[in-house]
Amino acid sequence: MGQAWSIAGQCIATMRLNMETTRLAPSPTGALHLGNARTFLVNWLLARQKGWRIILRIDDLDGPRIKQQADQAAMEDLAWLGIDWDQGPVYQSAHREIHHQAIERLVNGGWVYPCTCSRKDIELAASAPHATDGATIYPETCRPKNAQPVITAQPSALTPDWRINGGAALRFITQDQPLVVDDHFAAGQVYIPRRQLGDFVVRKNDLLPSYQLATVVDDQQMGITQVVRGDDLLDSTPRQILLYQALGWEKKIPQYYHLPLVVGTDGRRLAKRHGDTRLSSYRQSGVSAGRVLELLARWCGLRLDRPLGCAADLLEQFDLTKLPAEPMVFTESDEAWLRRGVW
Ligand code: GLU
Ligand code: ZN
Repeated sequence: MGQAWSIAGQCIATMRLNMETTRLAPSPTGALHLGNARTFLVNWLLARQKGWRIILRIDDLDGPRIKQQADQAAMEDLAWLGIDWDQGPVYQSAHREIHHQAIERLVNGGWVYPCTCSRKDIELAASAPHATDGATIYPETCRPKNAQPVITAQPSALTPDWRINGGAALRFITQDQPLVVDDHFAAGQVYIPRRQLGDFVVRKNDLLPSYQLATVVDDQQMGITQVVRGDDLLDSTPRQILLYQALGWEKKIPQYYHLPLVVGTDGRRLAKRHGDTRLSSYRQSGVSAGRVLELLARWCGLRLDRPLGCAADLLEQFDLTKLPAEPMVFTESDEAWLRRGVW
């Protein structure tokens, strides 16, 4: 085990790293708020307790939603809390080539088919069940009859324009065989992929990889063995495992830790409607990082006996088994408590 200490206000966590690797993967689509911060804090604490290497990855593939400078802002926010990393930032957008290679392999293996349905077509066709994450299950309008991924598929016989020109999305052929997903925090699940998830997009019709594809390719390429993230992504996990399998990377499937989200008093995930909970907003109005960490620590089920200065001050005490399994509710009194002494 390593140890952590603070010297003259500087927080240092020393740690002998082992072979495990995790990533902090902010999307630069907005500023980090208290909910993101709790997930990153838990990810960081687990990594530093267990000796995992941490890579910072900026998930910047969501084109139109990317905000200028949001990557820098996320790094500042993390640093303010004392959350550091061993490598990066690595930008997903720099990995286009390997995303495309993986897509080619899926095409060549017969794992995908082109789909020209618009979102509206799908909504209309799907009187249809929704996946547990609320996504519409694709009604298989474009799925070839008897679609079975076979390694010997002859995609060259297809040579259609959609391979290079776009204009069609590529969907992954899901099957009826159950898929077991284990998790180190959330309850394990058994999915029937075709029924519960449906054929999902791996490449969008603008040729960009989907979140599912890019995540698997990058995690594999970066040697990620531990994925810690919000449980809003729970239903992405079986899709991602199917991609690991199709790409021949079964041995690389990471260990998953899905954490409950922070919600407002209306039970909905923390967002603008709940007020300005951006870390930068607290920082700018003079709330200390320690104060924010104290709230986050409470949301980790910890009772503190002294004030906090930085994330490393939680290293000794943090215990994943104390983390509540239900969503944490951010209340008005939490907000008042955070800002107390500042107003
Ligand atoms: N960038 C994603 C997010 O902020 C995380 C993706 C992942 O952990 O797989 O939600
Ligand atoms: Zn279609």
